[in-house]
Amino acid sequence: MIQILLFLLLQCSMSSRAPPKALLQDMVVPPRQLFGPGPSNMADSIAETQSKNLLGHLHPEFVQIMGDVRLGLQYIFKTENKYTFAVSGTGHSGMECAMVNLLEPGDKFLVVEIGLWGQRAADLANRMGIEVKKISAPHGKAVPVEDIQKAIAEYKPNLVFVCQGDSSTGVAQPLETIGDACREHGALFLVDTVASLGGTPFDADALKVDCVYSATQKVLNAPPGLAPISFSDRAIEKIRNRKQRVASFYFDALELGNYWGCDGELKRYHHTAPISTVYALRAALSAIAKEGIDESIQRHKDNSQVLYAALKNHGLEPFVEDEKLRLPCLTTVKVPEGIDWKDVAGKMLTNGVEIAGGLGATVGKIWRIGTFGINSNKTKIENVVELLSKSINETRSKL
Ligand code: PMP
Repeated sequence: MIQILLFLLLQCSMSSRAPPKALLQDMVVPPRQLFGPGPSNMADSIAETQSKNLLGHLHPEFVQIMGDVRLGLQYIFKTENKYTFAVSGTGHSGMECAMVNLLEPGDKFLVVEIGLWGQRAADLANRMGIEVKKISAPHGKAVPVEDIQKAIAEYKPNLVFVCQGDSSTGVAQPLETIGDACREHGALFLVDTVASLGGTPFDADALKVDCVYSATQKVLNAPPGLAPISFSDRAIEKIRNRKQRVASFYFDALELGNYWGCDGELKRYHHTAPISTVYALRAALSAIAKEGIDESIQRHKDNSQVLYAALKNHGLEPFVEDEKLRLPCLTTVKVPEGIDWKDVAGKMLTNGVEIAGGLGATVGKIWRIGTFGINSNKTKIENVVELLSKSINETRSKL
């Protein structure tokens, strides 16, 4: 009897929870022009793939799609590396995957810091108990490559990290000769191209890069959720000869490489790939293949000139003074004296256009305008700057 009563009581208490009211309403997704640091707008050809039916991740047709993605990634990274695939996760997962595989206890890590992303890599290494040395530039500037070469020769790191395009400052760090210095002194060379790939020149093999990662939601115009990555033969050799196994199963590059068909061995189950996001990445790579990677890079360069000219016309100044060091697909703009950046960005958002404020040390000092992929377009850029200027003037008139 008591048991029946207890059962009924439990039933009552279990069924008394009402479903969340919010979930009984339709989801609201307003149209938005995404000119912030990412995500960028999704191209229609990519969005369409998202609603295609799922396949099993081990089905031959999906394995073929994964193979196409690998070819596309080799094409945009400009590499022959066999271990070229995409990690299931956002850009950070590329960073974590690279570092947990390429660093092991006792290693020394040199970080070239030109903004938040160097700090993030150093933070991750600290969490792993790895010794870190940073070589930094004031925000808005790059570290001279001669200083990097010197630091490599003196510190003799096992791994060197450079962010090619730091989205917190808008600086493009020159990469030439760093790979040579790494080879000379026995270091591996790791590059973050999350905010730069497809929008600024990059050639993994010519630059002697040992590991490079990126993300899908910037120049590629795909949804966030995959981190393209590539490991050189030197990097794979280091991973194979580790004294300790990689501490992460999910990010184990050799396991992931097998899952993506990089090692020529029988494919083993590792995890369930985010099927729809892989479709989207394939569509994004197909769009770049049709335009041409060099053509895409050139278009971003040409349209950065359109942006600089429009800013000048409206009396606004880029934050990165040296034009050669500006990231073509993400421009940082100085907030004029006395203007509240948030107020201006808020006004733009009510007009359906997103730009962002600074990040980390640049908060309050700059706006960040991303012109990634399909958003690298003359008319769209001129309209964004027009709206920015109008929003600044409205804020000013209230002062
Ligand atoms: N590196 C850089 C240069 C980035 O701009 C970002 C994202 N803004 C990341 C890494 C991290 O990528 P995610 O937010 O996709 O994890």
